[in-house]
Amino acid sequence: MKKKYIDRQYIYERENKKCFFCSKFLYKNKITLDHYYPKKYGGTEEVFNLVCSCKKCNNMKKSKVPDNHKEHWIKYFVKAVVDGRISPPHGTYRSEFIKMIKNIEIDKVYKNGDYTVFEGDGKRIYVRENKADKIVEFYS
Ligand SMILES: [Zn+2]
Repeated sequence: MKKKYIDRQYIYERENKKCFFCSKFLYKNKITLDHYYPKKYGGTEEVFNLVCSCKKCNNMKKSKVPDNHKEHWIKYFVKAVVDGRISPPHGTYRSEFIKMIKNIEIDKVYKNGDYTVFEGDGKRIYVRENKADKIVEFYS
């Protein structure tokens, strides 16, 4: 994934200018971005997989896989959609997309090739490079 998809400023402000792990205040020039689900295992540079971290915590975490990474993805994906950081599928208005995401309960997330698929209430949202490329409806 190209660097242009990384939104450092948003991630820094989302974490209230603090380290995600130890809550220490960080000056912007001191932040590092940690891949919550490690890059080594296929963690992406999308907004729901990056957290703002101090150097010390980032070094300590290394390539550990957090037990709650799926809950984390769902929570930060929903927040990113509401904050307008995930582009809607082609032909869908941003406002409609935000409304849809707010009205469904996403309870599942998994990888499918390059895509991260968020699923809930009969909908699967295929996300890649901070963009919802397609939404597929299914009967659950
Ligand atoms: Zn820290």
